Amino acid sequence: MALNLDTRQRAMLAEMHVRVWSPVMAPEPAPVLETAALAHEPTPVHAPVASPAPHVLVPVVPAAPTAHAAALAAAPVRHETQRPEGLDQMDWAGLQATVASCQACTLCSTRHHTVFGVGAPAPQGQVPQVDWLLVGEAPGENEDLQGQPFVGQAGQLLDNMLRACGLSRAAEAGPEGGGIYITNVLKCRPPGNRNPKPEELAQCEPYLQRQVALLKPKIIVAMGRFAVQSLLQHSVPGVDNTPLGKLRGQVHSYQGVPVVVTYHPAYVLRNLPEKAKVWADLCLAMAQLQGRG
Ligand code: SF4
Repeated sequence: MALNLDTRQRAMLAEMHVRVWSPVMAPEPAPVLETAALAHEPTPVHAPVASPAPHVLVPVVPAAPTAHAAALAAAPVRHETQRPEGLDQMDWAGLQATVASCQACTLCSTRHHTVFGVGAPAPQGQVPQVDWLLVGEAPGENEDLQGQPFVGQAGQLLDNMLRACGLSRAAEAGPEGGGIYITNVLKCRPPGNRNPKPEELAQCEPYLQRQVALLKPKIIVAMGRFAVQSLLQHSVPGVDNTPLGKLRGQVHSYQGVPVVVTYHPAYVLRNLPEKAKVWADLCLAMAQLQGRG
């Protein structure tokens, strides 16, 4: 059924877990993506000021295969060129170069820049030393133009919340750790800020898998529906039909790394009362991290 929704309506539907895309190849839907929706969002950004909640450790949810993983594997793929062989052996510099020239899905034809990620400073081509990995969904307009994840108001909100946790995307890890890296599941912007397609997510996820393998974070924070679905597709049965709110408050797992689920900063900008929930999720992540340390 064709829906004539504008960007804001689609973004709201996305956060209410109303699916507006299909695993079957379909005509381009109207713009949706959360990050880019910020370009029209006038809401001011303020940092949370509360202190971290008491530390409570939550057991890691064991992994189990899901129908979503099988659906992604079976999804039809249109690509310009295959990803290179040996991705699982690639070093950080090789991975960066591979993503920068990737043409493994049709998003390569509309992007301005790939967005590999940003985080703790490291020598050229070296893996940043980090404890935290924050994963969003896909670049928006500003991210595509600048080649950086989480710029604009969503990025400001994220930075403010990280600062309240004593973290910074630009800071080196100290003696007690604390370095962070921020990336997205998709490295290229979907045109018109539409939702990512399953075949695009399936093509791009191996890059995230390799980033996780090289970064070896101690905690992953999955921000937003598509990040959560991609990271938990192998461990949470029915994750693509599970409201994000029901996945919060527990610690999941991705490649053996604990995963905490939270809302996307762009969604929080449109729903400021939800900021407290994101803060609680970051506190859970901090508690999990300190428990492991
Ligand atoms: S979205 Fe990912 S798989 Fe598609 S072209 Fe960009 S880097 Fe390659």
